[in-house]
This record gives sequence, structure tokens and C-alpha cells, in this order.
Amino acid sequence: MKNKIAIFCLFLGAMLLFLTNVFAQQNFLRLSILDVGQGDACLVNLNNEKIILLDGGPSNILLRRLGESLPFYKRRIDFVIISHFHEDHIIGLVELFRRYQVGTLIYGAGLEESHPAEIIFAEAARQGTKILAIKNESSFILGDNCYFKVWNLVSKYRVNDNNSLVTKLKCSHFSFLAAGDNELAAEKTILDLKLDIESGIFKASHHGADNANSLKFLEKINPQLMIISVGSDNKFGHPSEALIRRAYDLDIKVKRTDLLGTINIFTNIR
Ligand SMILES: [Zn+2]
Repeated sequence: MKNKIAIFCLFLGAMLLFLTNVFAQQNFLRLSILDVGQGDACLVNLNNEKIILLDGGPSNILLRRLGESLPFYKRRIDFVIISHFHEDHIIGLVELFRRYQVGTLIYGAGLEESHPAEIIFAEAARQGTKILAIKNESSFILGDNCYFKVWNLVSKYRVNDNNSLVTKLKCSHFSFLAAGDNELAAEKTILDLKLDIESGIFKASHHGADNANSLKFLEKINPQLMIISVGSDNKFGHPSEALIRRAYDLDIKVKRTDLLGTINIFTNIR
């Protein structure tokens, strides 16, 4: 009996090694809009080599979702980006910093003002994470033909609570844009500045609220797919029906985490 168990374990180990190698050679990218309820957390896994987390959701459900999405041996996140410091985007990060090694923490200078933010910065400092405050814009190279860019527009338009970093990921033919909870004033500034926001996939701003995601903004991004990260039966009435109609009129496919759970987009970027 013991021999059989040992043989089975060896077989299992060999299979895992084989699958790991197959994935390692494939140069894949997986974007996961994690189902964290009413909040935001997007995970990018580039070939099991570079892991990026954009926001951390409203609770420790983030850890469960990461466990479901990452290989069991992955305990390092290369980049954590905080779009802004509302609780539905950062609470999960407190525990994340206690359980995962984080290479670089990125946030928008001038957007940090809350109690959980202090805890996150303290945990990041404790484990030696590099902390970067973005003042205007910055680019980060992930590999051949693959990078992400963040813009902080806070100095360029009227500041309100929802002001967020804008993040664009571009890898070969794949592109993804997320603008946190930015609202119409921020979108107008983004359009006025003619930022390069055109992207195949767009995470709807502010959980699909109608005071964001304007027609002109959507037209400029020109996505094939819009993903809405939103909790079911939330008290804010997100997402707005008008936005769903706008997307339909523009021929943009819509997916929602309240209806589908975590949404995974898998692509080969060779
Ligand atoms: Zn939010």
C-alpha cells in the first residue's frame, strides 16, 4: 500500500513538473478580474514569471481568490498597484502584505489619505517592498513588447475622492485599461490630454456607475470587451442600465463579476 502511495506521489510530481514546463514555454498572459464582491481587484499573470495585482478588494476574500488563481508555489507579487485609497480597493492588501512578498508598490502621489493606507505602507516597509509614488506618469517594462503604464492626473483636474491612477497594460496584441473609480471630470482630462488609452479590454470605471464611462471615453478606448467588477445587489445601483445600453450601442461585449464570478481572459502572447 505504501509503495502504491509513493508511486502515485511520484507520478503526481512528474505531472506537475511537466505542466509547469509546458506553461513556462508558452508565454501566456492571464488577466483575472477577481470576484471580490463590491470592489476591485485585477490580477495579471504573465507566464507565471511576472505577477501584477491592481487593487486589493474590500476584504480578505482577496486571499482566497489569489489562492484559486495563482500556482500554489507562487508567494510573490511583483507589482501591486493601488488605483486609489477607498476601502473597496485596498482592505484586502493589508493581509496580502503579511502573506505574500511584494516587489514594488505603486500608488498616485497625493491620493494616499486613510487609515488602511498607513497599515499597508508599514507592512510594505517591513518586508522591504520598493514603494513608488507616481507624480505624473511612469512605464514599467515586463518583457519583450510587454509593458504597463500608469498615469496620475491628480494635478491636472479638480480633485475629488474618487480620483484614481489610470493603468494600461500592453503585451503584444493584448491591451487592457483600468481607470479605478475615476469619474466624468477625470475622463474629460484624459481625453483632453490625448492619452494613449485605446485598449481591447476595459475594466469599467467606478463599478459601472453612470457618472463615469462616458460615451466619448468608451469611443476613444474602443474596447471589444468591458468587464464590470461589481457586487450583486449592491446599495449603489451599480452598474447603471444606461452604461449597459451605451456598451450595447457601441457593440462592446459586457461581462460582470456579479453574474459570472471571477472573469479570466487567457491569451498566448508569443
Ligand atoms: Zn470603488
